[in-house]
Amino acid sequence: MSECIFCKILAGDIPSTKVFEDDQLYVFKDIYPKADVHLLVIPKQHIARLDEVRAEHADLLSHMMLSLPQLAKSQGLDTGFRTIINTGPGGGQEVDHLHIHILGGSNLPGFK
Ligand code: 5GP
Ligand code: ZN
Repeated sequence: MSECIFCKILAGDIPSTKVFEDDQLYVFKDIYPKADVHLLVIPKQHIARLDEVRAEHADLLSHMMLSLPQLAKSQGLDTGFRTIINTGPGGGQEVDHLHIHILGGSNLPGFK
């Protein structure tokens, strides 16, 4: 079995609070939210990091990006939202399964 935490979430071996899913994506609430709304958007395909994506992932990446505004709206983020992709240890990435953070609402931390 995969040791990847997010693959375990996808397999249902670790519980998560699902917000949305389709054939390519799974979206769930971050377990340690950094703002009132904090979602994680992950591909069902295991890709470790943004610097490992290749041209064959273009459609998937496009689909992920195009899904973000509607996901934010579904959480009531009508005035806007923040997206973050941490990449590698130098970027503060803790889970090696590509993910896009969506943050918004009250208590949005400063971005320095
Ligand atoms: P990273 O630092 O890799 O960009 O972000 C990983 C995120 O995954 C963190 O915000 C962390 O709170 C979240 N996270 C880690 N383990 C779990 C988990 O088991 N369940 C959920 N829902 N989120 C997790
Ligand atoms: Zn994975």
